[in-house]
Amino acid sequence: MIVCAGSKTCSFGVIENKSDAIEMAEFLSSEISLDNAMVRMNWSGCPKGCGVHGIADIGFESCKAKDAEGNIVDGVHIYVGGKITRLAKEARTLHKSLPITEAKYHVKYLLKNYANYKYKNESYEAFDDRYLSENYSFQALRFYTKVNYVLNEKLDLDIELVFDSEPTTFRKENLEIFHFGLKLFRLLTGENRYTGVEDFEPVLIRPRKLTKDEVSKLNPKVPYELSEAIYMMTHQDNKVRARVFSEILVKLESIITSPEL
Ligand code: SF4
Repeated sequence: MIVCAGSKTCSFGVIENKSDAIEMAEFLSSEISLDNAMVRMNWSGCPKGCGVHGIADIGFESCKAKDAEGNIVDGVHIYVGGKITRLAKEARTLHKSLPITEAKYHVKYLLKNYANYKYKNESYEAFDDRYLSENYSFQALRFYTKVNYVLNEKLDLDIELVFDSEPTTFRKENLEIFHFGLKLFRLLTGENRYTGVEDFEPVLIRPRKLTKDEVSKLNPKVPYELSEAIYMMTHQDNKVRARVFSEILVKLESIITSPEL
């Protein structure tokens, strides 16, 4: 990981940076085992970008953020997908203004996904070109890290939503939402949402009548907001079903900031 000077020696630095980066690196090393891998991570202490986070596989720009209780804490914007080898490309913002205590888990899930599906000796940049950006929308990646943070770190459910070894949703957000919703329903309830699904539409023979709190009723550990999100993702009428991840991400944010959870 490349890190700029940070607030200890640079007056522009928003947070200390170097110690935060060491802590993040130690956390990631303890959580993820990566063999024959190469991930470029760059961290800048302010928008001036001396840590060149814009060309990183996973980049950070320091900022101040609000934690779940509304306190102002040290944070980062997370960037992904910068390219320097074959085609220069600026990294895109995956998440803005996350407390570092949350951000490290998003990076953990990015690396877990890489560890799950990379080829031997494949760099993150090559993996992104071949598998990630080729098969999934950027919004799906945003949802993937956020929902896993909510499921595991916020709700302590020990359940992980994973991408597919052979993806079939063609970077189409509406298909990804339905597909992930079905997976979440199954993971959280142990049951199938529909008796069958063909071409990303439910087979409506004896459709179960669901209410928004159905997943919470089947699994009391699931808060209403998550149950409602899955209801929106898997609704039998595709005109009513959520079509963009931003609708669902709002629900996940409300779980993160809920004072009761
Ligand atoms: S990115 Fe900002 S904090 Fe880091 S060295 Fe440059 S000016 Fe200083």
